Amino acid sequence: MNDALDSAVSTRDIQAAETAHIVQTYRRVPVAFVRGRGVYLYDAEGREFVDFISGIGVAALGHAHPGFADALADQWRTLVHTSNLYFHPLQGQLATALARLSGLPRAFICNSGTEANEACLKFARRYWVAQGEPERTGIVALDHAFGGRTCGSLSITWDAHYRDPFMPMLIPSVTFVSPNDPDALLAAVSSQTMAIVAEPIQGEGGVRPLTPAFAEAIRQACARSGALYLADEVQCGMGRTGQPFHFPALGLTPDLVSVGKALGGGYPIGAALLSERVASAIAYGDHGTTYGGNPAACRAALFVIDQLEQGLLAHVRAIGAVFERKLRAIAARHTDLVREVRGKGLMWGLDLQRDASPVTQAALSRGLLVNRTSETVVRMLPPYIVSEAEVDRGLALLDAALSDAAAAERKGTAHG
Ligand SMILES: *Cc1c(COP(=O)(O)O)cnc(C)c1O
Repeated sequence: MNDALDSAVSTRDIQAAETAHIVQTYRRVPVAFVRGRGVYLYDAEGREFVDFISGIGVAALGHAHPGFADALADQWRTLVHTSNLYFHPLQGQLATALARLSGLPRAFICNSGTEANEACLKFARRYWVAQGEPERTGIVALDHAFGGRTCGSLSITWDAHYRDPFMPMLIPSVTFVSPNDPDALLAAVSSQTMAIVAEPIQGEGGVRPLTPAFAEAIRQACARSGALYLADEVQCGMGRTGQPFHFPALGLTPDLVSVGKALGGGYPIGAALLSERVASAIAYGDHGTTYGGNPAACRAALFVIDQLEQGLLAHVRAIGAVFERKLRAIAARHTDLVREVRGKGLMWGLDLQRDASPVTQAALSRGLLVNRTSETVVRMLPPYIVSEAEVDRGLALLDAALSDAAAAERKGTAHG
């Protein structure tokens, strides 16, 4: 066994090994996980945690799923990587499955969510150049949007903390509009707009579903101007809501869809899905990737999709409804703290009246992993395999953590 998995290694040792040579881009929570099983994670000291964040919505099958491990081991013993110079059997199978789930006929397979968005932005650009309208470079994105951290995706990311240290953006022609203001979208989109980019449910931005009125504005703006719609489904897609994707629920028909996170169940993979209209503008050599869609990554995604189609999607719908009912009941007991509950399926945000950190920290102390996003939101992205008993256990911990945070606040106020 790997030394790093040896139970003799403490969280402190693991932390110390990073401080000298890892670029300090993450202020990590001081917990070191060494193994997992289903919805549970175990740290270096053997403490058990209920994992309601699943590696930010990635570990859809939970941890150490036996069938997934067998499929990956089989693939690793057979063929791992050959590059995109040659054919292998699994990429076409994966593209077929993604077309079946999304209705978009063509896929470009890459390695992450940000790469999926980069590919979509390039393909949108390529489309307008092929149409003889190279001056159409405008992008309209939304307040609270998150598209990723590479230079193109950063341009469609709203949060100033991510952007300001890197100004000017590589793609300068991005306008942000409020997702609460359909008229602002209609005003911002013109014959110079290349694409509208919007997550059907914003994830990092605080679990904010698009309203039907805003979705209708996207539809109208595209119809009126010809602009492409890029649905960023990296977080809300691949079964997270109990449906393969969320855009159909909003009546949207994107020309581009970006996918990542749950797609590989933990194996790094992303995909850009294209309508025939856009795909027909793409020529040999227009985009590429060394790793993208290699046999190992495709096998992982095919396994995840097979699970979704063999009953896991239906399970997410059923357990998601249970999760919602119980979460709303808890929120109703903490009206002093909770402002709003938002989400769908197994993607939930508890928007608080104030900073969410005391709640996420109290949850951690009690053995529950949730995370804070958009400052006031406690976000939950449990693995799809979560059972009702596990929902009960995790939400009881959340309930207690909300009480802890409220009690700590009262104490703080009492002391001055
Ligand atoms: C996480 C995320 C991305 C970026 O994905 P990475 O795999 O981290 O590059 C893009 N869009 C959305 C909506 C996301 O949630």
